[in-house]
Amino acid sequence: MRLSRYFLPILKENPREAEIVSHRLMLRAGMIRQQGAGSFSWLPLGKRVLDKVCRIIREEQDRSGALEIMMPTIQSADLWRESGRYDAYGKEMLRIKDRHERDMLYGPTNEEMVTDIFRGYVKSYKDLPLNLYHIQWKFRDEVRPRFGVMRSREFLMKDAYSFDLDFEAGKAAYFRMFVAYLRTFTRMGLQAIPMRADTGPIGGDLSHEFIILAETGESQVYCHRDYLEFDVPGADVDFTDDAAIADIVSKWTGPYAATDEMHDETAWDAIGEDDKVSARGIEVGHIFHFGDKYSKPMNARVTGPDGKEHFVSMGSYGIGPSRLIAAIIEASHDENGIIWPQSIAPFDVGLINMKSGDGECDRICEELEAALTAAGLDVLYDDTDQRPGGKFATADLIGLPWQVIVGPRGAAAGEVELKNRKTGERENLPVAQAIARLG
Ligand code: ATP
Ligand code: MG
Ligand code: MG
Ligand code: MG
Repeated sequence: MRLSRYFLPILKENPREAEIVSHRLMLRAGMIRQQGAGSFSWLPLGKRVLDKVCRIIREEQDRSGALEIMMPTIQSADLWRESGRYDAYGKEMLRIKDRHERDMLYGPTNEEMVTDIFRGYVKSYKDLPLNLYHIQWKFRDEVRPRFGVMRSREFLMKDAYSFDLDFEAGKAAYFRMFVAYLRTFTRMGLQAIPMRADTGPIGGDLSHEFIILAETGESQVYCHRDYLEFDVPGADVDFTDDAAIADIVSKWTGPYAATDEMHDETAWDAIGEDDKVSARGIEVGHIFHFGDKYSKPMNARVTGPDGKEHFVSMGSYGIGPSRLIAAIIEASHDENGIIWPQSIAPFDVGLINMKSGDGECDRICEELEAALTAAGLDVLYDDTDQRPGGKFATADLIGLPWQVIVGPRGAAAGEVELKNRKTGERENLPVAQAIARLG
């Protein structure tokens, strides 16, 4: 991609409304534009990151056996009356009327709708387990939308819903999602810690929030230091092996980890001072087993092996891709800008021509652009006539993992400079070697 033909509206000044670093950097790097309270457009650079994040989420959902669908954003109030949540949900729900005066709503979540899909087709335990997910916009009329896409009113969510014959099978489905979440966040370069979370009126202990430790987090969290060292299962993890999956969950729920609402002072006091991590955290995912909370009032039943009818045992599993991007920036930046983990960087390489119009610089840049692209890398080529200082500042701000800098002096000697955004390390290399190194 040539920067001269791209749409990258960089802001020079710090936007005054941005209270936290991720919001500031997303606005300055031209990733998002605010359209109203808690409402954002995703500009080309931001959209590329969002797509990469969603792709990793999809790959890990699919690997664990979940199936992707797509449900509408606008839902009928009648479905929510069946579950009893239409009145219970309160002001966070955006309620709308259509031209026939029918009550509609913009979905804040999809338990009712997916249960309706399920009950329309599935009648036998033989068709279980089933886990359906989608990645779709949600609207919640938050009391205090703030921090950019971290807490917005319209936001993207991956929400999955599992259906099983009984609690034991439902628990196995919950464990599969637990492990899929560990893999998802690790692939984005994040250390997410599963913490016991409040299950509300339903009770039980099958609810975990996945938390990123960050000073700007809105929750107070407590965990054992061991979590910072745990290994995450590899891509070869066998999701059909219930015992192996349960072992992973058992390890990852062993040491103490709880959000504020679930914090237990007695258990906490038993941990040695050096092993205590008490910090602020960002909730990037939340998984929940709720049994027959929806299947019972909505009459979603299957015939079991015993020939009897059973209300299906359900769970739901959310990740906020838009919040996740802000959380990644909170965890990975410096005073010059964003530092993207390779897996979700909008481009792999920023190619900087220090003197556009110079024959040799242009020629080498074009050679690099072609060769790196052929090697499967996404290249953003800064071919504009801005001064080098401005180009370097932009490159650091948008945080691509590698910068390849081509200037007249190096070009005359057939050399370019390679800069690693994260470490700041720089190296002069012949063109062919730079290509080999990155490709
Ligand atoms: P919070 O406690 O931050 O209000 P929540 O517990 O209401 O979040 P869930 O209903 O568990 O959120 O939704 C699943 C995921 O959706 C959350 O873990 C988070 O990643 C994301 N999410 C929820 N609300 C928002 C929001 N207002 N803006 C962006 N992402 C959100
Ligand atoms: Mg909320
Ligand atoms: Mg929450
Ligand atoms: Mg939650």
